[in-house]
Amino acid sequence: MPEAASFDILAIAAHRDDVEQTCGGTLLKMAECGRRTAILDLTQGEMGTRGTIEDRAREADEAARILRVGWRRALDIPDGRVENTYDNRLKIARMIRELRPRVLILPYWQARHPDHATASMLGYEAAFLAGLAKLDLGVPPHRPYKIVYASLYADVRPTFVVDISAQFDTRFAALMAYRSQYQDREQGSKLFPREAEIRERLAAMAGFYGLLAGVRYAEPFVQKEVGLVEDLLAIPVQSI
Ligand SMILES: [Zn+2]
Repeated sequence: MPEAASFDILAIAAHRDDVEQTCGGTLLKMAECGRRTAILDLTQGEMGTRGTIEDRAREADEAARILRVGWRRALDIPDGRVENTYDNRLKIARMIRELRPRVLILPYWQARHPDHATASMLGYEAAFLAGLAKLDLGVPPHRPYKIVYASLYADVRPTFVVDISAQFDTRFAALMAYRSQYQDREQGSKLFPREAEIRERLAAMAGFYGLLAGVRYAEPFVQKEVGLVEDLLAIPVQSI
């Protein structure tokens, strides 16, 4: 991965392969539009049932290459113990300052896995700290303009969805780059469904969100702010 520079979009998530599942298609679509994208994983995945940290690092790099992500790194926050501490907020704030994203994608703030919910709060508070002029982190202050929450893991109605019909297959390939997690093996096969089943499940989820907006496949997001409209004639998604 090349060194940090200025990026348009930064996606932060608790675990390697979270981003691939929740907003990988959107990152790929943005890269295809010429946007510079980056991923910051908070943990290295040492609690994963399968594979080593080295396996997961290699797989994460391969997935990033497939999604045309320009920069990716994993912090050393303990897997399964992502905590909203000041130290962790500072670690993330420093990365936000180095990467200078305009848009920050965080996990939705309610989640079954505590790491996902905490990563959301941590990311938000880190983004706030990153903008404080008097907080000296050795990197100039920067606050993202926009925060959106990838809500695929949460049972909430999205504020908007991104059409990933053209990116669905490549996003699936990025997820399958995590061979140690998803490859067919007898051991633990109940926990890790076979590739065809994973694909069917992903297609069902993406198809559901696509249907809400009249496209084939989509990824859901929540924004806390209201939408702002200039031209009523340009609002997408048919009503009746
Ligand atoms: Zn996760």
